[in-house]
Amino acid sequence: MTTVETTVVPPAEATAVRVIPHWIDGAEYPSASGRTAPVFNPATGQVTAHVALADQVEIGAAIASARAGFQIWSGFSIAKRQAVVFAFRELLNARKRELAAIITSEHGKVLSDAMGEILRGQEVVELACGFPHLIKGAYSENVSTGIDVYSTKQPLGVVGIISPFNFPAMVPMWFFPIAIAAGNAVVLKPSEKDPSAALWLAALWKEAGLPDGVFTVLQGDKAAVDGLLESPDVESISFVGSTPIAQYIYETASRHGKRVQALGGAKNHMLVLPDADLDLVADSAVNAGYGAAGERCMAISVVLAVEPVADDLIAKIQDRIAKLRIGNGAAGLEPDGIEPDMGPLITGIHRSKVSEYVDIAEADGAQVVVDGRGFQVDGHEDGFFFGPTLLDKVPTTSRAYTEEIFGPVLSVVRVASYDEALELINSGQFGNGTAIFTNDGGAARRFQNEVHVGMIGINVPIPVPVAYHSFGGWKKSLFGDAKAYGVHGFDFFTREKAITSRWLDPASHGGINLGFPQN
Ligand code: NAD
Repeated sequence: MTTVETTVVPPAEATAVRVIPHWIDGAEYPSASGRTAPVFNPATGQVTAHVALADQVEIGAAIASARAGFQIWSGFSIAKRQAVVFAFRELLNARKRELAAIITSEHGKVLSDAMGEILRGQEVVELACGFPHLIKGAYSENVSTGIDVYSTKQPLGVVGIISPFNFPAMVPMWFFPIAIAAGNAVVLKPSEKDPSAALWLAALWKEAGLPDGVFTVLQGDKAAVDGLLESPDVESISFVGSTPIAQYIYETASRHGKRVQALGGAKNHMLVLPDADLDLVADSAVNAGYGAAGERCMAISVVLAVEPVADDLIAKIQDRIAKLRIGNGAAGLEPDGIEPDMGPLITGIHRSKVSEYVDIAEADGAQVVVDGRGFQVDGHEDGFFFGPTLLDKVPTTSRAYTEEIFGPVLSVVRVASYDEALELINSGQFGNGTAIFTNDGGAARRFQNEVHVGMIGINVPIPVPVAYHSFGGWKKSLFGDAKAYGVHGFDFFTREKAITSRWLDPASHGGINLGFPQN
């Protein structure tokens, strides 16, 4: 629980009938498509605005503006580009509370968690400030007499980013700071469920001195996504979202000849060995299972308890759940001014889906230890709240085990051994994150080697790599071979040219020779 010192009124509250526009040519761009989608404040259940859903004309305008922006931006010197990225970092750091309030008002996560996502995104901006070092080429002198070979890394052009609802600021920031620093122009298609963070970021880029057209926000749904996937003027796609859509994006963008990275869903297991510190495990399971109401791709959703620890661990988790405060995540709106630990889910539809998974688990034989179905918050009866839920003895054949729930539902599966647990993790369809809790270094080392997952925590429940490593899972959690940010990010957003060069010196010229060039 975090004490909050100031009152922030979510801006969307004041603008009930507003249609959230695109950002094209460095300014808000009202939509004439006639299509919109409602945007909710999930804590109150009220529609606070509508968001524009782009049509073909608007998709065309966004891409054309980005093409023009690219022509200007790619001609900027490295020093000038670096100054703009630095200015963006300074503005973001100074004004991040504004962005956090916007995130909370449309996503529902508590304000301190919204600040956390901004800080993790800001890390990537800070990495991007050092981009000149990361886009340097290489030089080999005198590979053959008088001949040098060197490489340069050039921007791709217009790049598309398609992001999910659960991190409306951080996920776009996994990509755009690097893409922009490297000289590209970005078209961001944010989630239609929480579209305002992207507009705020666009205005900040403008203030930082980015030329118009280099950062575009295209609001919309499938039509906007397909417009980006199919446009010959968009060179690459960076996608984060659910696995079925990630696979669709990967296949469609590839078919249109684009470079594509597509990060999908997850089902992250926490393996608890009998020698682990159960208080640390219980704290970590609760933090990683219920933080952001479980709407994190790195949330822990399954605890694999190697017996005999399950009974003790469940009792400890239950104690902690009883103390969690669930409510409106906007600071200052709670009567006592104390921020709750957990906010609502994103929509009423999503809440029903989460609830159905608990029904399925129960029908399949799981024991519902703590039941969050039907949970309500006083004064927020229309909000999309779902209480923290703890399931025990979840059958591994149940869809509640094999599929992603994306809500505050923690499933305990009791296993007899490390090997049984490992087999369960490795046989799943996802491979995003996992964690092992143990005091046995040998077991942890064996786990990091044997588990088929992209990001591993050792006594760390949410192992999101820092900006100078890279983020990405295995199997159906990542389509393509490029992870987000880190060195992968710079490789993805540049293409290399190799130049073989000889400056003619008449003395070294060998005359006519039609043979294949040799050393
Ligand atoms: P989603 O797949 O529904 O939507 C993601 C984006 O795709 C949105 O911009 C949406 O407008 C667009 N989209 C949705 N349906 C589409 C369709 N039929 N055709 C084209 N585009 C479409 O995902 P979501 O519900 O916004 O986000 C939650 C999901 O994202 C979870 O599965 C979560 O695990 C995943 N996620 C993964 C990571 C990761 O790093 N692997 C990170 C965050 C979220």
